Amino acid sequence: MRYKSDVIIVGSGVAGLYCALKLPSDLAITIITKADPEECDSWLAQGGICVLRNEEDYQAYYEDTLRAGHYENDRASVDIMIRSSQELIEDLVAYGVDFERDENGELKYTREGAHSAPRILFHQDVTGKEITSTLLDQVKKLPNVTIFAHATMVDIIETEGHCQGVIALADPESPLGLASDGLMTNDGREICIMEAPEVVWACGGIGGLYEHSTNWPHLTGDALGIALQHGIRLRDPDYVQIHPTTLYTEEKGRSFLISESVRGEGGILLNDKGERFVDELQPRDVVSQAIFAEMEKTGAKHVWLSMENIPEEEIKDHFRNIYETCLKAGYDVTKEPIPVVPAQHYFMGGVDVNSDSKTSMQQLFAVGETSCNGVHGANRLASNSLLESLVFAKRAAVRIGKEFADTKFDPDLADSIDLAKYKDPASLFAAYRESILAEIERTKKIHEHQ
Ligand SMILES: Cc1cc2nc3c(=O)[nH]c(=O)nc-3n(C[C@H](O)[C@H](O)[C@H](O)COP(=O)(O)OP(=O)(O)OC[C@H]3O[C@@H](n4cnc5c(N)ncnc54)[C@H](O)[C@@H]3O)c2cc1C
Repeated sequence: MRYKSDVIIVGSGVAGLYCALKLPSDLAITIITKADPEECDSWLAQGGICVLRNEEDYQAYYEDTLRAGHYENDRASVDIMIRSSQELIEDLVAYGVDFERDENGELKYTREGAHSAPRILFHQDVTGKEITSTLLDQVKKLPNVTIFAHATMVDIIETEGHCQGVIALADPESPLGLASDGLMTNDGREICIMEAPEVVWACGGIGGLYEHSTNWPHLTGDALGIALQHGIRLRDPDYVQIHPTTLYTEEKGRSFLISESVRGEGGILLNDKGERFVDELQPRDVVSQAIFAEMEKTGAKHVWLSMENIPEEEIKDHFRNIYETCLKAGYDVTKEPIPVVPAQHYFMGGVDVNSDSKTSMQQLFAVGETSCNGVHGANRLASNSLLESLVFAKRAAVRIGKEFADTKFDPDLADSIDLAKYKDPASLFAAYRESILAEIERTKKIHEHQ
């Protein structure tokens, strides 16, 4: 089947949704998403979202971001993110996002590891769900936006260095493929040509490539595999963040995150002998390395996280989701420490973009975790990700609005696409996976020798 829009956004996390909200309302926008719209990492974010509280905090916030990033951050991008944060938060509140407030109605701030001051807004420990569900509700109200769930981008349509749309596979239950009788894959999905003069990749991270990750398993970095095939520039793909604290379990599946704000609010890490072995408020990579070293020394499969210093009411209020999930797993965090282990969590590298989220290919943008504008350097500071995703998604939308009239589009191009090469998606995605992992290894070696 063929489907035409002005802009295609691939992904329904905060980056994709906010981009849709900020695009001109006279453009026909299509969002495709691999699973249900709610099944994205944005929905899982616990700790919160950073904001510049006041001018006095600018230097400290900037320095904390750089220090966590090993000073490899793109400084202009960091400045844009911090300077845009207050307006962004005001916009989220205007959309209906409910951040925690004190008895006078003033916003409350929490603190996480590597932050020198409390500057994180939150909604209990389900901040991501609060923001993403609000944005999704807003997008659903827009008459110019269509969302197709269970539709997976498998490639882009390219001509002479310009992007002209995507090839998507519609699952049997996806409304995208329902009315049609096009070519099918060998696993029962319809191959769809989705034409558009502007494409935005908002495909999230790469946790699905790892055995232990806090990410949804369907987030396999597909955009990166496609980028490698089309010669679209990547940046620092080996910069992968390991989160120090996920709940240890023998079971397979997504690792459950124990937010850094637990340590920010007083949670401590203990070894098998009940002794502390690291400053818990160091950046994530430092704490993860200390845990790995401790596990190697003692042969233990995990270390322990104790919330004994956090008042019970605060645990049950601020960390309700963590409290309830741990309880279901057999641990009462108000009474006993829980076993924790590091797991893959975040992707600092990605598709190389400029400060307007433009990739090295014309008419192709990348936003959110899939992209890399250098904000995070070699290691992300806690709670900078939602902010970065939103700030730079808006910049992509504004840029698209400005350049749309000048985009190039060839309506006959789709006629020449050989759809037969998409008939075996398992092999295609296996090839993407292999090429991404090889690129991660290649760039890791380069960084090691620098
Ligand atoms: C457990 C957890 C807790 C976190 N806590 C915080 C926090 O407190 N603060 C913070 O700032 N950050 C946090 N993060 C990180 C943050 O949530 C993410 O970096 C951010 O939400 C990424 O948003 P996104 O829109 O780029 O991607 P996502 O929200 O992951 O969305 C990606 C979308 O792309 C779609 N997609 C992927 N591939 C394809 C394809 N081939 N075709 C079609 N669709 C595709 C997916 O289906 C999904 O809809 C956390 C992350 C996790 C996992």
